[in-house]
Amino acid sequence: MVALPYSLDSIPEGMTCTSGSGSGLPFLIQRTVARNIRLGDPIGTGRYGQVFVGHYQGETVAVKKFASRDEQSWVRETEIYSIVLLRHENILGYIASDMVSNSGVTELWLITQYHSNGSLYDYLSYNQIDCACMVQLMLSICNGLTHLHTELFGTQGKPAIAHRDMKSRNILVKANLTCCIADFGLAVMKVRQKNTMNLPTNPKQGTRRYMSPEILNDSINTLSFESFKQVDIYAVGLVMWEICRRTSSSTGQCEEYELPFQGMVPPDPTLDDMRTVVVDEKKQPPIPNRWTSDELLASMVELMRECWYPNPLARPTALYLKKKLLRLAMEDNKRSYA
Ligand code: ADP
Ligand code: MG
Ligand code: MG
Repeated sequence: MVALPYSLDSIPEGMTCTSGSGSGLPFLIQRTVARNIRLGDPIGTGRYGQVFVGHYQGETVAVKKFASRDEQSWVRETEIYSIVLLRHENILGYIASDMVSNSGVTELWLITQYHSNGSLYDYLSYNQIDCACMVQLMLSICNGLTHLHTELFGTQGKPAIAHRDMKSRNILVKANLTCCIADFGLAVMKVRQKNTMNLPTNPKQGTRRYMSPEILNDSINTLSFESFKQVDIYAVGLVMWEICRRTSSSTGQCEEYELPFQGMVPPDPTLDDMRTVVVDEKKQPPIPNRWTSDELLASMVELMRECWYPNPLARPTALYLKKKLLRLAMEDNKRSYA
């Protein structure tokens, strides 16, 4: 086993790569890491991959394996994670990508930091949270999304990126109870020089339950990159709703975990199911009475309703949400110390 000159834990903040491997390790080291990982238990499955715990020189990592038929999704995630300035505390930390041959079968691996709390969906299913934790979770999601959506200029720069599959299963909960955004298999980049987008085939590729009205009724303007950011914001509004249900008010009361539109559409809704509810009946997830009588939760209700505006242009940006949440967090702090 070849020892690395630095620990995997030290990659996020400390390292700048000059080898062209973007925010990951230099290519040769990526290979060395992949070849020397001992796979452990499966920790999650999604549409494209099965994710395992991996052990490397005493450190724990996550290994997402893609079948070779899902090569496109592996290529796209690797491409996104390799953007030099992508690294951010609220974006899943990337370590390496590699093709690994296992008994003659080629496997595509994506190696990232491991978060034992799992996805936000898992975390909310098993845990109630308090108001401070709610704000922290949301703020960290909006912080990550602001970074993703923002184009950075400069020698290296960073293109604006839209995620296109925002949902609680694609957000991970870190040990300090802040979140990081994961699963970039459907992400699109705005390529500045040509002012073109780097679009994967079909705009209806996200998770149907989280699809915005303009995707469901085909009115999305696919020529504008902003449209894809606005789609992310609609979905973030749904994630906020999932978080609020699990947030206990001063009385200690909260709702059971539910997926957005649970009970309004079947477990694996079709596009028609979603279109009927979201476009024809103009339904939004229900807001329990207790939220509107709690100052902080009531402010969250206002925010999520803005995210759900049927007119995508009227929705807030991720940066606006981040600033608003920061202000709410400060006000709440003041109230607790008053
Ligand atoms: P897919 O593209 O197939 O949807 P994801 O990247 O969303 O795959 O991963 C599927 C699931 O695996 C997630 O919902 C989460 O439960 C788990 N998972 C993924 N990456 C990690 C990680 N780094 N740490 C812990 N759990 C993870
Ligand atoms: Mg996923
Ligand atoms: Mg995916």
